[in-house]
Amino acid sequence: MLSSAPDPSDKALVPFVSVANMMRLVHHLGLDAVIRSLTGHIEEDFRRWERFDKTPRVASHSPVGVIELMPTSDGEAYGFKYVNGHPRNTRAGLQTVTAFGLLADVATGYPVLLTEMTLLTALRTAAMSALAARHLAPEGARTMAMIGNGAQAEFQSRAMQALVGIDTVRLWDIDGAATEKCARNLAGSGLAIVRCTSAQDAVEGADIITTCTADKQYATILSDNMVGAGVHINAIGGDCPGKTELAPAILGRASIFVEYPEQTRIEGEIQQLDPDHPVTELWQVFAGAAPGRRSASEITLFDSVGFAIEDFSALRFVQQAIRGTPFFEPLDLLADPDDPRDLYGMLARAGGAAAA
Ligand code: NAD
Repeated sequence: MLSSAPDPSDKALVPFVSVANMMRLVHHLGLDAVIRSLTGHIEEDFRRWERFDKTPRVASHSPVGVIELMPTSDGEAYGFKYVNGHPRNTRAGLQTVTAFGLLADVATGYPVLLTEMTLLTALRTAAMSALAARHLAPEGARTMAMIGNGAQAEFQSRAMQALVGIDTVRLWDIDGAATEKCARNLAGSGLAIVRCTSAQDAVEGADIITTCTADKQYATILSDNMVGAGVHINAIGGDCPGKTELAPAILGRASIFVEYPEQTRIEGEIQQLDPDHPVTELWQVFAGAAPGRRSASEITLFDSVGFAIEDFSALRFVQQAIRGTPFFEPLDLLADPDDPRDLYGMLARAGGAAAA
């Protein structure tokens, strides 16, 4: 128990985790421990998949990006994330992806947590990648190609190191400054870092290929000839209609694993395929109801788009992790009149005289 922990028992005050406090929490627990714990929460929630209300996220598109709401509930708690995706933002010094989220008690409808989710999204996306790779990557995978060295890249690398045991990352980005930033941040992590000259160079000898680029178009980050037998592809960046990273021919050769097909068919790499192309739902793999990798020569693909249950799991993780810590502030978010029906009176008394 850390000193000066705020009292979370006052139902009208909502615990709020700022970016600064999220960073303190991660340093307090340790990055590997956070990723492991997130992985545990996600796996647990995916195993009780049928208990959740599920819907593809609600997306509002513009020519330069997307703003999305990602809700779900297990009947006891309700969560949602607000998240954007604006690939051109970095040119203006802004993040491509920012997010915040909320957890609420279904019994009362009262929010019980409000938190930043920009860092949390990077952490949960990395945890989800590593969890999928644990079931899909070839045995003894040690080398990962990391294509796209932006905000997510170090988190992806560290999660694959902690959970899958990779010891080498081969970095490639069309912007050399991003690769330098990534290499600098990963120095001292224990990972061997190789700066590559192209995507083709990066995939050389890689057991896992992670694509995590941001561009609102049908891009070809990996062409068919770059993907050899036995590789696991962790495709993160194609997560919107009209935004993909893989040549369609790769999809024809791969066993494809997805989060929630109804959303992935709209947003993922498989938007390039017929709507009835077979895919395996990862919750079934985690629950032991469907196989993961079946042979050493199989090409496996996690067509990641990011699903609401992963954010729900991340919110649950934060709710538990901040207990007994000073890493949140009580937020005066909810009106709390002494008589619940005297909302007007509360307002009037606050003004001292007539209500507004
Ligand atoms: P970012 O803008 O910080 O980094 C993207 C990097 O990709 C940049 O450094 C850019 O130079 C590089 N890039 C662009 N085109 C490239 C190409 N053709 N080859 C090599 N590199 C290229 O973005 P980010 O926050 O790291 O996110 C990356 C992508 O992942 C985004 O598209 C985002 O929407 C997506 N994302 C997905 C999930 C998920 O759950 N699947 C979660 C978070 C982010």
